[in-house]
Amino acid sequence: MQTLAQEVEVSPALKQANKQANPQANSLTNPPTHSFSLNSLLLVTAQPVLHRLSTYGELPRQLIQIISRASVRLLDSDMLIAQTPHNYERSEEVGRPSVALAHQEHAMSESILELIHREGLAPHYKPFMRTFARILFSLFLTPDQYDRACACIDSGNNLRFLMSDGGGPTLGSWRTVAQPDGDGFKLHIDKVWGMYANLDGMAIVAARTPGAFFPSAYLVWPEQYESLKRTACGDSFLDGVVQLGNVKGDVQVAQDDRLKVGGPAVLNKYLTTVRPFLVRALMAHVEWLAAQGRVELTVDERAARDFIAAAARAKTQSGRYESEDVQRVLALKFASNELLLHLVSRGAVKQFSDQRDLLAFTKMEGSSYRCYHELRASMRVSKAVAASI
Ligand SMILES: Cc1cc2nc3c(=O)[nH]c(=O)nc-3n(C[C@H](O)[C@H](O)[C@H](O)COP(=O)(O)OP(=O)(O)OC[C@H]3O[C@@H](n4cnc5c(N)ncnc54)[C@H](O)[C@@H]3O)c2cc1C
Repeated sequence: MQTLAQEVEVSPALKQANKQANPQANSLTNPPTHSFSLNSLLLVTAQPVLHRLSTYGELPRQLIQIISRASVRLLDSDMLIAQTPHNYERSEEVGRPSVALAHQEHAMSESILELIHREGLAPHYKPFMRTFARILFSLFLTPDQYDRACACIDSGNNLRFLMSDGGGPTLGSWRTVAQPDGDGFKLHIDKVWGMYANLDGMAIVAARTPGAFFPSAYLVWPEQYESLKRTACGDSFLDGVVQLGNVKGDVQVAQDDRLKVGGPAVLNKYLTTVRPFLVRALMAHVEWLAAQGRVELTVDERAARDFIAAAARAKTQSGRYESEDVQRVLALKFASNELLLHLVSRGAVKQFSDQRDLLAFTKMEGSSYRCYHELRASMRVSKAVAASI
């Protein structure tokens, strides 16, 4: 019987065999849907991720191994019970027209990314995150809200984006609730793990509204935010640059401060826009850590890093948002998470603080579990029975 490691070992060979049978595989215009035709659990479970990543080019061998191991490890009971040996196929995708993205923030991010490459993430993290705030504003706010929020930021306030809830990850269990009250809403807030949420500033707070299927979000202004109970949470990250905080309390928000340009598609659009920038920053940071002798990269690990960095760069430079980008970018964040986890778990990262930082970034803006969950849901199992080994 083959061990898991041996099975992963054969995956590039399988891919090669498949390429011979399907010479157009790996072309950007005609990505392989069935790269791995044998029904190994290890290979089948990785297909939802590998399929999306293959649209960026031919994957390096070790990245395939890392992703295959991660996919099989992330199977929860529900996924495992539903798992068949059959290959995955793309689900029908709605051919929505592509949307151009704001260029100003892109140009700003490019210059910061260059600095991260030269000096690491810590000194440039805050300005980098500020560009994310502008992207968020441009997607979610009405023109009036946009003007008011930009004026607030321009006068020296920072934005806190409060999504993670004290009640847990599912909307039904959120303790942060918005109740209609008079002309506006009473916002009962119980948020955790927000970046700099313990400090003053303005906030966008996501809340559950009784009876609604999706969360709603609200602008909370500095004078309101000041009245909330805020506590620092855990030790800081990145040499003291990133501190997480928890926030509790009640505020009254106006009708005009409810984000109206909303819904799950907009949140996806925001995450799809910022994730490749974050992945580029992380890959630049790894490169910098390696240059400092704080991370050791083998030739294969460097090839994996280079692939992820190049793919993220290509995505950020496209300047457009297509509906299938949601999955392509989820796969990219998954690959970035798993490369970082691989480096930490094999002992390639020397210092505890760097190990903790790199793992923290595997949670932020899309954990592997979340990414994998969505990637599986976006594919369907082929009706054709795959050949057995
Ligand atoms: C540096 C840093 C900055 C952050 N900044 C912010 C911020 O500004 N604002 C904000 O709102 N949040 C922020 N966060 C929080 C971040 O969004 C969450 O850490 C992230 O969503 C992951 O959440 P989670 O740990 O609950 O895990 P997830 O992976 O999202 O899991 C959610 C749930 O899924 C289930 N699950 C997970 N893995 C498995 C598995 N393998 N098998 C079965 N079930 C599983 C568990 O029930 C788990 O509770 C930050 C976090 C960090 C580390």
